[in-house]
Amino acid sequence: MKNPFDTPEREEFRAQLKAFVDKEIKPYVNDWDEKGKIPWDLHQKAGALGVWGFGIDEKYGGLGEDDNFLRAIYNEEFAKCGAGGVGAAMGGRMISLEPIQRLCSSEIKDRVLKDIVTGKKGSSLGITEPGGGSDVANMKTSAKRDGNHFVINGSKTFITGAMTSDYFVVGARTGGSGLKGISLFFVEADRDGFSRVPLDKKMGWWCSDQATLYFDNVRVPAENMMGEEDKGFIQIMENFNIERMCMCASSLGMMKVCLEESIEWAKTRETFGKPLIQHQVIRHKLANMSSKIDALEALVNNICWNMNNGEVPVAEISKAKFFATKELEYCSSEAMQIMGGAGYLRGNPVERIYREVKVMAIGGGSEEIMRDLAVRQMGY
Ligand SMILES: Cc1cc2nc3c(=O)[nH]c(=O)nc-3n(C[C@H](O)[C@H](O)[C@H](O)COP(=O)(O)OP(=O)(O)OC[C@H]3O[C@@H](n4cnc5c(N)ncnc54)[C@H](O)[C@@H]3O)c2cc1C
Repeated sequence: MKNPFDTPEREEFRAQLKAFVDKEIKPYVNDWDEKGKIPWDLHQKAGALGVWGFGIDEKYGGLGEDDNFLRAIYNEEFAKCGAGGVGAAMGGRMISLEPIQRLCSSEIKDRVLKDIVTGKKGSSLGITEPGGGSDVANMKTSAKRDGNHFVINGSKTFITGAMTSDYFVVGARTGGSGLKGISLFFVEADRDGFSRVPLDKKMGWWCSDQATLYFDNVRVPAENMMGEEDKGFIQIMENFNIERMCMCASSLGMMKVCLEESIEWAKTRETFGKPLIQHQVIRHKLANMSSKIDALEALVNNICWNMNNGEVPVAEISKAKFFATKELEYCSSEAMQIMGGAGYLRGNPVERIYREVKVMAIGGGSEEIMRDLAVRQMGY
């Protein structure tokens, strides 16, 4: 079925990314996942495709324009490599770039943005704390003013890309309790008092790193405050809207992999004298998976169109986020069921996606929090 939102530019971008993923990523994902990292030059190769340039000035290596469809295409096509860890290894940059571009001073942008956008250096977003991630308004990390500086104390955890990032966007408490006392800071990794420890042995996303960050009297110039003081909560939420839409698009890419792998397997695997694909029960599973893909695709397109037209459809983004991960859970489970024992073996995308569903359902706003937010946005 024709996608009414396709344009020659978007089709070209998708084709370019698909070719890149097929050639530069897919053949190596098993190896990278087992080794627990991707080669650093992949960041630069991906950067050269413009995948981090949305809404970023051309002088910083950006595309000079924003198009949420392109963001979605990037996330969907990269997810099709079948290893979420690849996107995640570069994803810390993706979720921290937007606030850097929007809120950092010109001095900071001139100094760092081009290196981040082109993949030379990494950046990460530090919101979640050991005490909790869902209740952002309750964060404990503090930033106290001391003359022309702020002094940051506290800790962040589960921070994606943190072991390799040079720059961090960090939420910290500058005011009283609750959502009105939070500000965002740009923190360079070489500041005194900053340290990080990797989180090991995760369920999935093996080729990406996550870490706990420690801030022990880390002094940053007052200019490193991003945007207005005590307005960090709303800035974090604005950034989350983009991240969540992108996670829906990644889920869509993973669901498509599950369907394609299922079809390929079902065409050749024979049971009871005929290929699996001719058994009605299996055909129904394929139909169900395909219909869920169609529904999510339509939802992502609709959200992108609205975002491109200046809307912030928070309720729809929240609903799409938990819808996407629930349907991804369904598709990965059914795909594994269709593959039988073969699906249970390591080294195939279905096994990996099945393990990676939960991080999609928890990270960037859990299913429970998304449902709650959606209903609040609906006015209740
Ligand atoms: C691999 C990975 C990468 C991540 N990367 C980053 C990153 O780069 N930067 C970053 O800042 N964070 C990152 N996170 C953290 C992620 O955003 C948090 O895990 C998430 O927000 C949930 O927070 P939590 O784990 O502390 O769970 P909690 O907030 O402790 O919640 C635990 C459970 O309780 C549920 N719950 C909480 N409150 C309610 C409620 N009121 N009603 C009903 N249920 C509720 C939650 O949905 C969840 O299921 C990452 C996490 C993972 C696993």
